[in-house]
Amino acid sequence: MDYVDLRSDTVTKPTPEMREAMAEAEVGDDVYMDDPTVNTLQEKAASMLGKEDALFVPSGTMGNLLALLVHCQRGDEVIVGDKSHIYMNEAGGMSALGGIHPHPIKNQADGTLALDDIRASIQTEDVHHTITRLICIENTQNVCGGIPLTAEYTAQVGQLAKENNLLFHIDGARIFNAAAALNVNVKELTGPADSIMFCLSKGLVAPVGSMLVGTRKFIARARHLRKMLGGGMRQAGVLAAAGLISLEKMTGRLGQDHARAKKLFEGLKQVKGLKLDASPSSNMIYFDLAEDIRLSESQIMEEMKKRGVFVDAAGPYRFRLVTHYWIDDAGVEKAVKAFEEVLK
Ligand SMILES: *Cc1c(COP(=O)(O)O)cnc(C)c1O
Repeated sequence: MDYVDLRSDTVTKPTPEMREAMAEAEVGDDVYMDDPTVNTLQEKAASMLGKEDALFVPSGTMGNLLALLVHCQRGDEVIVGDKSHIYMNEAGGMSALGGIHPHPIKNQADGTLALDDIRASIQTEDVHHTITRLICIENTQNVCGGIPLTAEYTAQVGQLAKENNLLFHIDGARIFNAAAALNVNVKELTGPADSIMFCLSKGLVAPVGSMLVGTRKFIARARHLRKMLGGGMRQAGVLAAAGLISLEKMTGRLGQDHARAKKLFEGLKQVKGLKLDASPSSNMIYFDLAEDIRLSESQIMEEMKKRGVFVDAAGPYRFRLVTHYWIDDAGVEKAVKAFEEVLK
């Protein structure tokens, strides 16, 4: 069966054009920095984000970890959102592997960290305290609803970081979704940051890989640490070839995924038994099950699957659906119809 897979944008398989580019990619040993396709991808990513240099990494998790390891010494503290991927979903890598101390503060409903909360969480000079080194924000903010954080807000965080001698990293796994949602050039969202990670493997449809972007000096150190973590890849141009198509062809079409998310949201609003969050601003829809629904999350997942639709629970009585390249209008309609049948 041809499934409509709304579990995540990570499920996106490469397009035929990507597979062809992968088959024909010029390659070399990237640990020697000899892979021309990887080099082109890195140059292109740096230039699109308005930074000096970039590094191709196997995953977003490794990209974020490298940023933390380059920016922080053991015992340093990082200000992160309590609903951020770095804090919740990266297996505690910063403390396990870097001896870095997370200082979680509340993510507001709009995905931001309140500037006053950031200010209040910066440690004072005192032998009892850690040294605050870095602020991390996430754009789009996944758990808060795939919400884009604006250029104005990002500039304010950048200013606050500068005034307090702190570094500033953006987990921009979906930063191109944010740029599309806000209708701005992605550079406006990355300018104030010292480093940015973004994923090629999500809405940008590539099979594998993320990019870490920053100054030449930062990237040189990150390359060293990537080798230490076992992420130095050899003929990685086979993967980078797909990533180049992500940058060239996929960044410009994300608005279509956002329009389909709105369409799916409108359809689901008519389904009894679902309590939807606010209208989606990017490619994610979150909803809770109404109290009178007697099915468990896993029963709903099972029943939806029988009707050709994959969905994933995001917690007790809660679901997240994500639109992407392989979800068309017919897929949206099929999903709405399946929910109607399952919940009636
Ligand atoms: C997916 C994701 C990551 C990590 O990416 P992986 O490639 O899955 O390791 C980091 N941050 C956010 C917000 C994400 O959604």
